[in-house]
Amino acid sequence: MNNKILEITNLNKTYHDETGEITALKNISFSVYDKEFLSIVGPSGCGKSTILSILSHLIESDNPCIKFNKENCILGYMLQKDSLFPWRTILDNCLLGLEIKNNLTKDNIKYVNYLLDTYGLSEFKDKYPTSLSGGMRQRVALIRTLAIKPDILLLDEAFSALDYQTRLTLSDDIYKIIKQEGKTAIMVTHDLAEAISMSDRVIVLSKRPGTIKNIYKIKLSNKSTPMNNRKCKEFFEYYDKIWRDLDVNI
Ligand code: ADP
Ligand code: MG
Repeated sequence: MNNKILEITNLNKTYHDETGEITALKNISFSVYDKEFLSIVGPSGCGKSTILSILSHLIESDNPCIKFNKENCILGYMLQKDSLFPWRTILDNCLLGLEIKNNLTKDNIKYVNYLLDTYGLSEFKDKYPTSLSGGMRQRVALIRTLAIKPDILLLDEAFSALDYQTRLTLSDDIYKIIKQEGKTAIMVTHDLAEAISMSDRVIVLSKRPGTIKNIYKIKLSNKSTPMNNRKCKEFFEYYDKIWRDLDVNI
């Protein structure tokens, strides 16, 4: 895990609206390694989503600061809401990105079918999203994102809309799929436990304007699935440290 797939150097972002300027992010620098699972945590409004929006070119940073070390690096974006189309079957929802990119080749369709079959959704291919549970719908959303063969997956609070138990199981499922398909992931979350249990590194942001407070390399003695990682003794130590970094005032 030594190849840097992405380098961000001194990212700054100021929003302008009718009330004036809002500095959202200041001096953000970090790298992302190939096949790494990286999380960004921080209080609400500290600029987590803004980082992902800048990476995926939805908005611009104040300065040029992003370097992708792979030519034509493809990014896949997964959000809190699965936004599956209710009138399309699961298979057709998963093919949507390829359809939009005009890239519905035989091989790509085969790949989507492989993903649905491998990750427990084969019997739902012809069903509609309403017949699926929230957790399954998020798995479908991930497969739809993977269909375009992204080099880097961006996950923005992807589990937040689900109940606690579904979140735990789904983070195991999603983690397994991401690892098995050999993807790099950048996950934004306000849930420290989720970040620590899933990640190789966790970046902690300060409150707005978001700056980097700390970057933790997560080393767990018995690292396995995210659910089991929550039982490691080091997990609690990281939780404690990051919680203190966040400096929460209630
Ligand atoms: P987070 O994802 O960490 O909750 P965001 O990246 O969504 O934070 O937002 C960071 C800050 O920038 C927030 O304080 C928000 O009010 C502000 N912001 C986000 N989008 C806009 C916008 N389009 N116009 C003005 N301010 C914005
Ligand atoms: Mg956000």
